[in-house]
Amino acid sequence: MSDPFFHPISGFDLPRFAGVPTFMRLPHTAPDHPRFADVEIGIVGVPWDSGTTNRPGPRHGPRQLRDASTMIRAEHPVSGLRPFETVNCADLGDVGPNPADIQDSMARITAFYDQLKVQNIRPLTAGGDHLTSLPILRALAKDAPLGMVHFDSHTDLFHSYFGGTMYTHGTPFRRAVEEGLLDPKRVVQIGIRGTMYDREDRDFAAANGIRIIPIEEFFARGIPDVMAEARDIVGQNQTYVSYDIDFVDPTFAPGTGTPEVGGPNSYQALQVCRELYGLNIVGADMVEVSPPFDESGGTAFLGVSIMFELLCAMLSR
Ligand code: MN
Ligand code: MN
Repeated sequence: MSDPFFHPISGFDLPRFAGVPTFMRLPHTAPDHPRFADVEIGIVGVPWDSGTTNRPGPRHGPRQLRDASTMIRAEHPVSGLRPFETVNCADLGDVGPNPADIQDSMARITAFYDQLKVQNIRPLTAGGDHLTSLPILRALAKDAPLGMVHFDSHTDLFHSYFGGTMYTHGTPFRRAVEEGLLDPKRVVQIGIRGTMYDREDRDFAAANGIRIIPIEEFFARGIPDVMAEARDIVGQNQTYVSYDIDFVDPTFAPGTGTPEVGGPNSYQALQVCRELYGLNIVGADMVEVSPPFDESGGTAFLGVSIMFELLCAMLSR
């Protein structure tokens, strides 16, 4: 039988700085590709930041993440997982948004992920600002509400901005709970910190049973203890993982629109993903990487390194 897997281009065959960049050097396998149905985990770019309320730029994220991802090799250094020889992974390309129309963009994104769900392709997404997660959840949670492990400085649970605007990168998970896409009792938000407008988001979380683990508790208890609780909260039912790069301290991830100081370092940013092994992960995303604020490119490299960790967590079960 022939080898069923799409393999990344090895740096031993073509130097990693050469060639057309795709996510992790995997083949570009858009929905019209003849082997699209063979994909099991699809890496998708969503170059869209129309939900951004402050410093923009994540629309440029997927392209820079693809470029940085040529640094990723085949084997996980700790678990030994070799994802590209375990499940069939591919770069599914970008979802084309309508940068002038939020509702139209969300409809396009949901329609793309609907196709993936029909084909049983689990998505690993490179955003995009955090509003990107909402249209993805609309596709993935069609059958039943999902649990969620959410790494972020912010809860993204606000009701609205600017006197009634409901769709921004500060509101996606409020909408997702209201729309029945997330089971709030199976949602845990980790790393929350920074100055606040008010406590409206915290009150919503408390009223609905969403568990917030602020950064002070994260550091006081340590990663293994906190992540054991996170695994208990989501359990073995279907779970989404959403990773906002501003979870990480801006020393290590300056290339983002809403940085908050006093966060995890790049080592801890990887460690939390290694505590997700064994969960029933139906999809994951890396959002809010903003190349215009990423002068060294280091934020994008950390972003794709986290994406590789998430990929390994998705196939660890
Ligand atoms: Mn966020
Ligand atoms: Mn954030």
